[in-house]
Amino acid sequence: MSLVYADYNATTPVRPAAAEAMARALAVGGNPSSVHGPGRAAKATLESARETVARAVGARARDVIFTSGATEALHLALGAARGACGDVIVSEIEHDAILEEVIQTGRRRTAGASPAYGGAAADTVAGEGAGGPVRVFACNSEGLADLASLEHALRGADRPLVALMLANNETGAIQPVAEAARLVREAGGLLLVDAVQALGRLSVDLQTLDATYLVVSSHKLGGPPGAGALVLAPGAPFAITRRGGGQEQGRRPGTENVPAIAGFAAALNAVGSDETTRMASLRDRFEAQLRAAHPDAVVFAESASRLPNTSLFALPGLAAETALIALDLDHVALSSGAACSSGKVKSSRVLAAMGVAPALARCALRASFGWASRADDPARIVAALSAARARLLAGAA
Ligand code: PLP
Repeated sequence: MSLVYADYNATTPVRPAAAEAMARALAVGGNPSSVHGPGRAAKATLESARETVARAVGARARDVIFTSGATEALHLALGAARGACGDVIVSEIEHDAILEEVIQTGRRRTAGASPAYGGAAADTVAGEGAGGPVRVFACNSEGLADLASLEHALRGADRPLVALMLANNETGAIQPVAEAARLVREAGGLLLVDAVQALGRLSVDLQTLDATYLVVSSHKLGGPPGAGALVLAPGAPFAITRRGGGQEQGRRPGTENVPAIAGFAAALNAVGSDETTRMASLRDRFEAQLRAAHPDAVVFAESASRLPNTSLFALPGLAAETALIALDLDHVALSSGAACSSGKVKSSRVLAAMGVAPALARCALRASFGWASRADDPARIVAALSAARARLLAGAA
């Protein structure tokens, strides 16, 4: 039986155009810092990829800094803002890639004072950030950043750096980034936008968002893992925090991963103009079929504007851990709302922040579609879920 892969928010299959571009770059070889022919060829590939990424997000090529992925780019941005910002303010639905970093860094800096981050309380002072305290602002029951909570966190903040993602990886909820940017600018702050889940699925424009720093990743849009970028607004503060061979204009030392970067750019170029509509129709069909088969199904953040490819849902009583194993045996690959790197299902911080009851949150599953999803994937997923639920009920009888 063929595999139904519906976990594109975790990672995507590599597009053929990306694999071809990677193979070409590998065949050429060369270090882009070398002056000989292969080096110059690698440099040309690198600079062409930089143009592609810049164009995709409305930035200047010289403001694109390639990294190993979004996690590194987020950390690079935190370092870059150091000196220009005091307090760090993050939304409570940010990815662990940044939330854990600012909170753990804060804990180290406050040496012993380790204020608890509970996940639900808005405006929690959670430690010291790039230069001052870290505050966490809340989201509402639809998983949208609460702007009143942000305003509150901004009050009296010292040159804040605010982090708000463009689209949430679990719920798909699209965040009010431009509105948040207005508040941040009024407070004299800088804005860091994680656009990892949005690029390739929504239009992403640095200027419209008014972001100071924008972060993207290759493997969420059909490129390989191991490439990402930090994109700067013109004039964005950039403190050098790492030193080495001077690559990426001295802002991110280390030989660039040219094959992966070439794959990243090729994947971006391969995003079809009809993909968003196609993904939305698969996702909508999935939710309609799920509801028809299971009238008690719950879809989270349903009334928020969401990524076209994402559905976070629960069938009450069917624990995510049980469901994932049953689905896997039926060759259907979904994930729980938030999978951790050990492969275990952990409870979703985002659903807790939305006020979802723990018993229901434990049943949360995420279907996320993408470029290679097929028309019958929604029906196959619903059939596998129905079988899993039927087995559970039979076992309980
Ligand atoms: N930010 C978001 C919203 C993500 O979904 C992810 C990956 O799951 C990351 C950051 C980290 O990306 P990377 O795997 O490129 O480090």
